[in-house]
Amino acid sequence: MRPQGRFVRTYISMQTRLAFEYILTPQGLVRDQALVVGDDGRIESLEPAKGGADGFLALPGMPNAHSHAFQRALAGYGEVPKGQDSFWSWREAMYRLANRMTPEDMFVIAREAFLDMLRGGFTSVAEFHYLHHMPDGRPGAQMGRAVISAAKEAGIRLRLLPVYYQTGGFRQPARDEQQRFIHRGADDFLALLGELHGVELGFAPHSLRAVPPEELAKLTEAVRKQIGADAPVHIHISEQRREVDECQAAYKLDPIELLAKQVKLDRHWNLVHATHASEAEQALMREADATVVLCPITEAYLGDGLFPADQFTAAGGRIAVGSDSNCRIDAIEELRLLEYGQRLRAQRRARLATDEGLGLPLWRAACAGGAAALAQDVGSLAPGHFADIVTIRRDAAALRGHDADTFMDALVVGGSRADIGDVYVGGQRRVREGVCHGAEESARAFSHAVLKLNSV
Ligand SMILES: [Zn+2]
Repeated sequence: MRPQGRFVRTYISMQTRLAFEYILTPQGLVRDQALVVGDDGRIESLEPAKGGADGFLALPGMPNAHSHAFQRALAGYGEVPKGQDSFWSWREAMYRLANRMTPEDMFVIAREAFLDMLRGGFTSVAEFHYLHHMPDGRPGAQMGRAVISAAKEAGIRLRLLPVYYQTGGFRQPARDEQQRFIHRGADDFLALLGELHGVELGFAPHSLRAVPPEELAKLTEAVRKQIGADAPVHIHISEQRREVDECQAAYKLDPIELLAKQVKLDRHWNLVHATHASEAEQALMREADATVVLCPITEAYLGDGLFPADQFTAAGGRIAVGSDSNCRIDAIEELRLLEYGQRLRAQRRARLATDEGLGLPLWRAACAGGAAALAQDVGSLAPGHFADIVTIRRDAAALRGHDADTFMDALVVGGSRADIGDVYVGGQRRVREGVCHGAEESARAFSHAVLKLNSV
């Protein structure tokens, strides 16, 4: 008799047990517990464990719901005033950088950005990837593959969102400097998707400026047919006032109204920025159960404006956060700026706080929104979810003089990535005491590539 059945039963699973003094669970902060992690990287259970052998305070790693990794190379460049300085002059600088970048540069820059995300509290990333073709215009999937390799090497969880980009503005042809982003039609784009392996994909029609709105529904259906009906869809929308004005001029509708007319918005849709959404548009997004992806540091960096997140969340809307341009990567700081932007606009305090305080509900809300945006079981330290964990150091300056009741408020008000200790993705430690494996080599290669790309 073949002993196969017995072998199957006696197979020993590679369980990991990670014990923390405090863990932020869906039920709030719990004390002296361990996360039992299965060999698939998912949490199997929580069990009592005294002493916090693996760290002090464990938070669900923040999903980064919007990133352009290559733009990490632009941070600190383009800050000399030029005429009417605005988003649009920054965009010119971004095109110059983008058009020089090789797949090797992309790998080096994305790897550094992804390592920085892990050190900054993000354990998964939705990469909105539009720099497709080779610098000389030849098509190919090398740039996307470089992003996939960079994420694998860094150890961050990736949802790759290949971007469809066709026009240079509402009813405008694409410009020369946009050629690297452009697909001539759906067939070329579907062929590209077919060449990207070993990664979970989503779909990112770039914006209503870059995709003819009339073609969006058909295109989305064709992409979903290829990559799965549950794949998330992300789109930049209503980021700048000029975009709203141009949309009004071309269609006599605001951008989100136009989008909702063209496609059936639902929980798979993620609207990035939505900065200038009207009240009617906010209601459209809430009713559709779509997620609004906010990128507070980048929106401030680019001078976009402020989305009324207080109003939107109070009415039940879902938000996620993203590091977008990656000019500064810090999940804690994103949440702080998100709250402070609302305070400055309203000239009042505690805009996103509840009776649980500010930090805890805000961290939880951004994690839940991020999980929806990435369509992955992330953002929650509960059985069935991935053990993507960010730990806060016992000696974190921000937590001094606090206890469990106010840890999260203290962290969001006064903390930063400097307070992060170890970081785990799927139960695997990727950051130890703030340091990643291979960090020095990555930093050196990154500096070299950025200086080269930004040299005149
Ligand atoms: Zn973006």
